[in-house]
Formats: sequence, structure tokens, C-alpha cells
Amino acid sequence: MSGDSSKKWLARQKKDKFVKQAQKEGVRSRAVYKIREIQRKYDCIKHGMRVLELGAAPGSWTVDIAQWVGKSGKVFAVDILPMQAIDNVQTTQLDITSEDFTKWLKKTVAMEGIDIVVSDMAPNMSGHKQTDQLRCIGLCEAVLEVATECLRQDGNLLMKTFQGLGFQELVADLRKDFKTVKLVKPEASNRSATEVYIFAQGYLQK
Ligand code: SAM
Repeated sequence: MSGDSSKKWLARQKKDKFVKQAQKEGVRSRAVYKIREIQRKYDCIKHGMRVLELGAAPGSWTVDIAQWVGKSGKVFAVDILPMQAIDNVQTTQLDITSEDFTKWLKKTVAMEGIDIVVSDMAPNMSGHKQTDQLRCIGLCEAVLEVATECLRQDGNLLMKTFQGLGFQELVADLRKDFKTVKLVKPEASNRSATEVYIFAQGYLQK
């Protein structure tokens, strides 16, 4: 981040009601209010589910997801960055675009299948709008590939993306693999104009 943009980021953080709420509640990140709103709307994570979470650090979604699935469910949380341990969660530090991740996925997760893949990932931003947009769509395509490797028939996928170059093509790809594809814009996501979540339901296994 440049000096100017980090000053703007700090000023926005100070005013943001979700940052204040997160500090008051002691949750790991303001991002938790996005998944909570999506969960209220769609009840997408149910008791007993097996969930694969990509880009999970610092883990505010993971803490809630682990509670929603309960002891009879299982959460696999993956990030390039390390994460503090969470009860009933298997945390793994890997880049989801790496060979090691593909091996881990086949060995640990894919055999028994996953009910829902969730991703709040965004690539490191370079500051160049078009490059960042294309990197983001590339990451989303990688998430879709992961989902097709491990989702059970009729499973679901929830992922963050950004509207712009490549977005329509991504949605078109998802429509080939899932029965329904919806766009969700949680209130906590409003400060980023193009950020949106895609909720794809009913994986059509080939
Ligand atoms: N949902 C999280 C929470 O509530 O705490 C916040 C996730 S944060 C917005 C996005 C995360 O995606 C970062 O921790 C980043 O390290 C991770 N990430 C980005 N690219 C990744 C990749 N290729 N493989 C694994 N993790 C990645």
C-alpha cells in the first residue's frame, strides 16, 4: 500500500461501524459480519456439514463456521498464512494454487467429500486495477477447480469475487457446474464497490 492509500485505509477503519463492532465483540476480523449476514439469509452451513474454507486467516469466519457445524461436522481451514488453532478445525498452511495443496486435497479431503466450499480469498493487490481484477478472477477459477475436485453431488460453493473484467465469464462457468448461481452483497461488504459473493448451489457432479 502507498503512504496515501494506507492513510485513507486507517481513516476508514476508524469510522467503520463493523470495525468498532468487531473490536467490541473481540472477533478476529470485521469479515465475520459478512458470513453472518449470508448465513442468516441462506442458512448455507448446517449442523453436521463438512466444510472446506479457503483463505481462512485470521479465522473469524472459521470460529463461527465451527460452531454452526458442531461436533458432528468438520471444518478444514486453509491459508498461506498461519492461523491460531480452533476447536474441531483442521488448519493447514498452504497456497491453494500449489502442487502441495492438490496433494493434500486428494489425500485428506476429497475421498469423503465436502458439503460446502467457502472462500473469502483475495490476491495480494498490486495497485494496478486491471492486473488485480484478473488475479482475483484467476483465484476464483482456482477455487472452482478445487470445488469440482472435492464437492459431493448437490454440494454448494460460496466465494468472494470482484465485478469487472472476467466476472461474467466466471459466472457463466459456475452456471455450467451448479443448478443455481446467486450474487450476494452483505452490508459489511459495501465499502468495496465491486466486491460481491457468489453462492452457487447444487453441484452437478460429472
Ligand atoms: N474470512 C477471513 C476471516 O474472517 O478471518 C478473512 C480472509 S482474508 C480477507 C483473505 C485471506 O486469503 C488472507 O488471509 C490470505 O492470506 C488468503 N489467501 C490469498 N490467496 C491465497 C492462496 N492462494 N492460498 C491460500 N490463501 C490465500
